[in-house]
Amino acid sequence: MTNTAQTQSHIIDGKMLAEKIKGDLKIEVDAFIAKGLRQPGLAVVLVGEDPASHLYVKNKINSCKKVGIHSVLKQLDKDVSMEEVKDCLRKLNEDEAIDGILVQLPLPKHLNEEEILDIMDPSKDADGLHPYNLGSLVQGKPGLRPCTPLGIISLLEHYKVELSGAQAVVIGRSKLVGKPIALLLMEKNATVKVCHSRTKDLADEVRKADILVVAMGKGKFVKADWIKKGAVVIDVGIHHERKADGMSLIYGDVDFEPSAKVASLITPVPGGVGPMTVTQLLCNTIYAYKKRMGLN
Ligand code: NAP
Repeated sequence: MTNTAQTQSHIIDGKMLAEKIKGDLKIEVDAFIAKGLRQPGLAVVLVGEDPASHLYVKNKINSCKKVGIHSVLKQLDKDVSMEEVKDCLRKLNEDEAIDGILVQLPLPKHLNEEEILDIMDPSKDADGLHPYNLGSLVQGKPGLRPCTPLGIISLLEHYKVELSGAQAVVIGRSKLVGKPIALLLMEKNATVKVCHSRTKDLADEVRKADILVVAMGKGKFVKADWIKKGAVVIDVGIHHERKADGMSLIYGDVDFEPSAKVASLITPVPGGVGPMTVTQLLCNTIYAYKKRMGLN
C-alpha cells in the first residue's frame, strides 16, 4: 500500500476504530472496578509451538492488559492428549474469575477441534464458535458471535454503510468468517449471496455486489475490474511473504491498489479487519462478564 492510498479518506481505518473501542472498554472496566466489582477475566489456551499462534496470543494478552481485563495463558505441550486439553477447559469452565475462554486455532492435527470446542461452557465462549452460539446466531437470538464477522459489522456501521437492501456478496463459507458474516449481514437486511470454490463465474457474481466481503485465503485473487464502481470492499485475507531482502510483505485476498480506485470504501491489509478481530474478542469477554455479573 502506498502512502497516497493510506491518506485517502475512503480507506477504512480498522486500527483507529479498534483503538477507540478499546478506549471505551477501558472506561467501562474502570467503572466496574470503581464499583468494587472484580476484574473481567479471559483465559487463552495455546497448544504447541506455532510462531504465528504465539504472536497472535501475545497480541491478545497485551490488548487485555490495555483495557484492564485479567488474562490467563494456559500453554500446553504440542503432544498434549485430548483428555488433557479437555481437562484444562473443564477447570476453566468452573473458574469463577474467568468470563471468556479462547482456544487458539489451528490446533495440532492429532487434536479434534470440534470435540474440544464442544467442552467449553457456551457462556464463556469468547470466540463465539461453540455450536450453541452458532445456533443462536442462526436463530437470530442474542449471544456471543464470532469475532471477525462482528468486527466487520462494526466497521460497516462506523462508516455508516447502508446495509438494509444492499446486495452483499461474501466469498468464502467457513465457520469462522464466511457463514457467520453472511448471517449477520442478512440480520441487517442485506440481500446476501455466498460464493465458494464451486461458484461458476465468481467475477460475474462479484460485479453485482454493493458490499463485498472476501474471506477466501487466496492472495490478491479479487481483481479491480470485478468490483462495481462505488462498492464497499472488506478484505479479510491475510498473507505474509518474506521478500528476497528479508523484509516481510503483508497483503490480503483483494488486489488492493487498483481496487481502491474503484471502491467507495475499502479495508487495507494490514490495518483493516485484523485489529477489529482482537478488539471484538475483548468486547465478547466484557459481554460474557456482564451476563455473569447480572449487569445486562
Ligand atoms: P478457509 O476456512 O480456508 O475458507 C476459505 C473459503 O474460501 C472456503 O469457503 C473456500 O471454498 C473459499 N475459496 C477458496 N478458494 C476459492 C476460489 N478460488 N473461489 C471461490 N472461493 C474460494 O478460510 P477462513 O478461515 O475463512 O479465512 C479466510 C482468510 O481470512 C485467510 O487468509 C485467513 O488467514 C484470513 N482470516 C483473517 C482474519 C482476520 O482477523 N483478519 C480472521 C480469520 C481469517 P470451499 O468451501 O468451496 O472450499
